[in-house]
Amino acid sequence: MDQNTLTINGHAYNFEPGQTILQIAQHNNIDIPNLCHLKGTRPTGACRICIVELEESWGKKLVSSCSTPAKKDMVVHTESPEIVKYRKIYLGLMLDSGNHNCDIGSAADESWTDFQIAAMENDKKEELCPVWGDCELQALAYRYQVKGRVSGRHREPLLLPVEDDNSFIYRDMSRCILCGRCVAACNEVQVNQAIDFGFRGNSGKIIAGTGTTLRNSSCVFCGECVQVCPVGALVEKKNLGKGRPWETEKIRTTCPYCGVGCQQLLHR
Ligand code: SF4
Ligand code: SF4
Ligand code: SF4
Repeated sequence: MDQNTLTINGHAYNFEPGQTILQIAQHNNIDIPNLCHLKGTRPTGACRICIVELEESWGKKLVSSCSTPAKKDMVVHTESPEIVKYRKIYLGLMLDSGNHNCDIGSAADESWTDFQIAAMENDKKEELCPVWGDCELQALAYRYQVKGRVSGRHREPLLLPVEDDNSFIYRDMSRCILCGRCVAACNEVQVNQAIDFGFRGNSGKIIAGTGTTLRNSSCVFCGECVQVCPVGALVEKKNLGKGRPWETEKIRTTCPYCGVGCQQLLHR
């Protein structure tokens, strides 16, 4: 039988019709960075970090691998100089769009040790981000050595105060990169439909209900959005200031809430 095969970074892989380039890459342990992709939900192509290069008969083109279905005999590259150039631009724009004050990119002129020491010193700052060291944007910015301007507060949501009127979720839209993972998690995974994209352009933000707080919306505080948020925009309130993930012991246990028996990791 004629198999569906494409080439990624010079190696041939089989695929099933309907699979995206990102799905095939992930299935074969090929690293394509991404920030908006959420497994099991509809792809949005919002962050553009997962761009790959396709060789076409007329030249090369860049596409989002999360939203591009694989085609027979496609030739894909995942880390070419052109891709890296655009990933850096997109990461820089994301850093500039919010309150990302975590010393990203300082490793360009310091050793890794100096970078860590500087960050630990910054840790004393009241304003330092609660997810420092556990942030997908920070990790990618470090990987691609992109430094934000820190002062780039040009989006309207950055003027919003932190939403802190509930007992469970610390919601800081000044650090939101509008990836949409939380919206997919709430609407497609949990089917709670408590949050969505609201407004347009520089006023664009994730809204609860028709523009209220989570507490006053249909949010049930399941936490699904918190666990998928790649940055420090949604943080579990109980964890704030209680230690970094690598400082805690993780114990696998069973959630006692209902009879499904979901496994979870308790951090202590
Ligand atoms: S959300 Fe991530 S990138 Fe932004 S300040 Fe926090 S750690 Fe840094
Ligand atoms: S915590 Fe609220 S907003 Fe988040 S996924 Fe659950 S219901 Fe939706
Ligand atoms: S709150 Fe988090 S998950 Fe939701 S859009 Fe913003 S960055 Fe993405």
